Amino acid sequence: MTAPGGQAAVHAIDAPGTDEALWRTWPVLRSLPTLDLPARGRVVIVAAHPDDEVLGFGGSISLLASAGVELTVVSVTDGERSHPDSRVVSGAALAAIRAVETREALDELGADRARVIRLGIPDTDVAGHEVLLAAELTDILSGAALCVAPWTGDLHADHEAAGRAALRAAGAAGVPCLLYPVWMWHWARPDDPRVPWDSAARIGLPPATVARKAAAVERFASQIRPLGPGPGDAAILPPDETAHHLRDLEVVFR
Ligand SMILES: [Zn+2]
Repeated sequence: MTAPGGQAAVHAIDAPGTDEALWRTWPVLRSLPTLDLPARGRVVIVAAHPDDEVLGFGGSISLLASAGVELTVVSVTDGERSHPDSRVVSGAALAAIRAVETREALDELGADRARVIRLGIPDTDVAGHEVLLAAELTDILSGAALCVAPWTGDLHADHEAAGRAALRAAGAAGVPCLLYPVWMWHWARPDDPRVPWDSAARIGLPPATVARKAAAVERFASQIRPLGPGPGDAAILPPDETAHHLRDLEVVFR
């Protein structure tokens, strides 16, 4: 997911996260309206960093792939700054590692035919390239059935900028756009007033799909396990974080 930018984001994401048990026992999540995924056409999934698309929407990607829907995954950045203080891996090496992890994760989801487009926008500076990103996404979205992008309220600067650019591009291309949260599950609480629950919808995931998603998340070894013994090489996504993404439902905002 990569280190957050912006002071509010740093505080929200650095603070201890919400226990997944609280989300799992909150009845509102299960009573959200069900979202029907497209059965045909092309779906474009935008990720600020390689892994966002799997954490936030991977189960849905698997369902879409098994339905034969054409998929395009857009990696806005290569996620090269997830470990800026690493003593063992350079940013360039991380970018290469994470591109491979994405491909392997998509394979686990049964989405081996998905096209992956890497835009190479600098990690932690998506906001500084938002206009360029919107233009690139407008081209990519031409003729698509649906755009799915990180939520604009995720309290992570790159996620929010990618979501804003996707919304602008989808508007220009005349394509509907859904927004998926990633860090929200960490910093928000059930019934949190900062979250637009009224516009939320859920996609239910059968057990086999949850299992595929769990296998896909496991592929992001550079994020879920320490790279080395030093503090700059700690896991970005320890088990209490990945737990938020292994439920039997995914949530999007419409
Ligand atoms: Zn991310």
